[in-house]
Amino acid sequence: MAAPTEIVWHQASGALSLAWADGREARLTAAGLRAACKCAACEQRRRDGRPTAVPAGTALTAIHPVGEMGVQLVFSDGHDRGIYPWPYLHQLALEPCA
Ligand SMILES: [Zn+2]
Repeated sequence: MAAPTEIVWHQASGALSLAWADGREARLTAAGLRAACKCAACEQRRRDGRPTAVPAGTALTAIHPVGEMGVQLVFSDGHDRGIYPWPYLHQLALEPCA
């Protein structure tokens, strides 16, 4: 699935709203996105059975486009390693991370 047709960053709530041409829509919270980070360090923690503890109130502090493939998200805990390809966000949209 290609890039969403709409991306809205709700800075007040820290959530990201996405919509795709196939009609799928999602509102993903910053904490949920942080928990779903797929960078090597977070993946390793998950494999080790000690996934990253996401502090309450975690917010998104920046969104950087990564070419045509997705976005890099920067979180208020300083974590900026997460690349979120469009297909992954589309998948997260199916099972929204509270
Ligand atoms: Zn990560």
